[in-house]
Amino acid sequence: MHSENSSESADEPPSQPSLNSLKEFHSAGRGFWADVPDSDWEDWHWQLKHRITTVEQLQRLMPTLTPEEFAGATLANHKLALAITPYFFNLIDPTDENCPIRWQVIPRVEETHTAAWEMSDPCGEDSHSPVPGLVHRYPDRVLFLVTDRCASYCRYCTRSRLVSNASGYDFHPQFDKQIEYIRNTPTIRDVLLSGGDPLLFSDEKLDHLLSKLRAIPHVEFLRIGTRIPIFLPQRITEKFCAMLKKYHPLFISIHSNHPRELTTEVRDALGRLADAGIPLGNQSVLLRNVNDDPTVMKAQMQKLLMCRVKPYYLYQCDLIAGSSHLRSSVRTGLEIMEQLRGHTTGYGVPQYVIDAPGGGGKVPINPDYVLSRENGRVVIRNYEGKIFEYPEAEDGTPLVDAPNEIEEPELV
Ligand code: SF4
Repeated sequence: MHSENSSESADEPPSQPSLNSLKEFHSAGRGFWADVPDSDWEDWHWQLKHRITTVEQLQRLMPTLTPEEFAGATLANHKLALAITPYFFNLIDPTDENCPIRWQVIPRVEETHTAAWEMSDPCGEDSHSPVPGLVHRYPDRVLFLVTDRCASYCRYCTRSRLVSNASGYDFHPQFDKQIEYIRNTPTIRDVLLSGGDPLLFSDEKLDHLLSKLRAIPHVEFLRIGTRIPIFLPQRITEKFCAMLKKYHPLFISIHSNHPRELTTEVRDALGRLADAGIPLGNQSVLLRNVNDDPTVMKAQMQKLLMCRVKPYYLYQCDLIAGSSHLRSSVRTGLEIMEQLRGHTTGYGVPQYVIDAPGGGGKVPINPDYVLSRENGRVVIRNYEGKIFEYPEAEDGTPLVDAPNEIEEPELV
């Protein structure tokens, strides 16, 4: 985790930031780009054009690059490209090797180690693809992949086989065929645009695509999955939000993992989307050394609510090749969920899921709150570990006689 006290000796464990300090909103600032005019800095095209994409740029801006990072950045363009927007780069603490932002976007040599159980397509998307760029895994909804490009690249990306095209996947969506498949499949009522990042498209291109999908009578619901509000909040302009408003019901799922990503710039961008009437959800990935800590996760969830975003999913990190160094355990994920449920607002508690390896879909993972179902009662425990009973016959029918009293509630 990020340490705020760089003077601690190597023998002492680093002090953890408090919940309240993690929840403070700060600007990402200008960092190395202090001389850039506001009109450039706030222009999303300028940000894209000036991304950090080479090991030489990275080394120049961050002389504290570790040998693991240097080797990772040197090899990145053969696996998953290196790209970081100047805005997001400013969130990295160059003095902290364990900076949670750094671990998400700076390649490490560990990415070249593939464990026996890791895969290039851990969610089995390619085997559920009726036409290029479309994944039809659940009966009533499809994943519509629009591009293989992102504003910055996350080192644990589930679709690292295709995004950035560093490993030669040669992704070519065919919008006409994708739309035709949806038009000819009346069971599809929900279309999720993803990628890569759909918000890299121009307003006009996205407008055109959304209008085609909205014209299909059985498509009830449109969704966009994007990390642009986090990597490139400058892209969320008033004009863009006004365009999106034409396509309600339209939901947006953002992707944010650590409270430091929720800056004043991000809060304002999310506010513009919310003001356009777009319901916002967040997907976080449980990542070792980034957010596998109950205080960090609680701050993240509470801060998302302050940004008008409902925490939606917490993902166990997929078994993507080269991600072992970032994977936390299911046990840790369950402990974090225990620390959220009942301890903070219910709206701030995401559903923890494992995307079942090989294409089984999302499986909800919950701590055990039901202790038994027998003797005319369901025995449950609450967030404090106190035991309660709910009277119900084992077959679910209403009880005729009251069950025998159980002993005094106790702590488990
Ligand atoms: S923004 Fe999404 S698609 Fe792009 S690299 Fe990150 S996780 Fe992958």
